[in-house]
Amino acid sequence: MSRKRILVIYTGGTIGMTRTDHGYAPQKEAFHALLQQIPELYAPVMPEWEMVDMDPLLDSSNITVLEWNAIGEQIACHYPDYDGFVILHGTDTMAYTASALSFMLRKNNKPVILTGSQIPLCEVRNDARDNLITALLIASGNLVHEVCLYFGGKLLRGNRAIKYSADDLIAFESPNYPVLAEAGIEIRYHQAALMPRCRGDFSLQHLMNTPIGVIKVFPGIQFELFDSIMTEKLKGIVIETFGAGNIPRHVDSLLPIIRKASDNGTIIIVCSQCPHGTVSLGAYETSNTLKEAGAISGYDITTEAAVAKLYYLFSRGLSDREIRIRMERSLRGEMTIPR
Ligand code: ASP
Repeated sequence: MSRKRILVIYTGGTIGMTRTDHGYAPQKEAFHALLQQIPELYAPVMPEWEMVDMDPLLDSSNITVLEWNAIGEQIACHYPDYDGFVILHGTDTMAYTASALSFMLRKNNKPVILTGSQIPLCEVRNDARDNLITALLIASGNLVHEVCLYFGGKLLRGNRAIKYSADDLIAFESPNYPVLAEAGIEIRYHQAALMPRCRGDFSLQHLMNTPIGVIKVFPGIQFELFDSIMTEKLKGIVIETFGAGNIPRHVDSLLPIIRKASDNGTIIIVCSQCPHGTVSLGAYETSNTLKEAGAISGYDITTEAAVAKLYYLFSRGLSDREIRIRMERSLRGEMTIPR
């Protein structure tokens, strides 16, 4: 059987950074040279792989919709030529990019695995080597048909992942969905959690730079300060509420703002500040009012996936009503709808 072919898309991030006088920075030539010194990457059990570099290489804090479109174009342009894709990316916004790609790559059936590292490959002690090798092996398998994030021994659904630790080597979690595979002595897949193959033709949805905001509720929040931004400037808002979707009850300024924003076509999604668990609008009096005012439940979606989903739905040119309906549906396994 011929070896699988994988395209590696190098976007930047710690994995390929080297020491400079101004601290770690991505350096293309140095990274390519380091990769050539790892014989395991070219072993017969490995897939054949080729690498394209994004220009410029970025610290992922600088990623925008433009780069998401550029990554999507690389995948779309080479989709028939490769069996899978590995995206080397900084950890800071990897969960956002994974979420965005999960929506943008419509009818995707190929493994698209994002990975990176907390310590660059240039250091003697690093997590880059294993993350890259295992991501390549996963991308060359036959089981994954979705956008995933591989890091620190765990394969996670991309739009369920969050960056959980700024310094641990196991930096990502998937608090509301099972791990898709664990890489121990063997790579053990949890088949029931994996996305099945989908039917239809692959296509890429480019994203538009829609004005989207995230508001985190805190004790004493003065919502009136957000009035004009919520009702006039933003098209989509993710509100991170307490617990199961609660806001301070004394805040009577919020509901008229939400009502006005919804009437103006702004889509407001309620998420929880708790990484684990789900929003349940109406479970408490304090959350029921949100629903009555026109906000939509994000259930157990991550803020990262909610932001990406808003970009995606607005970019598809749907009506407000259609966007609202799809926000409450799971499109790519990004949320669990309670029965
Ligand atoms: N600032 C880096 C980035 O996200 C951090 C990392 O890659 O771990 O690009």
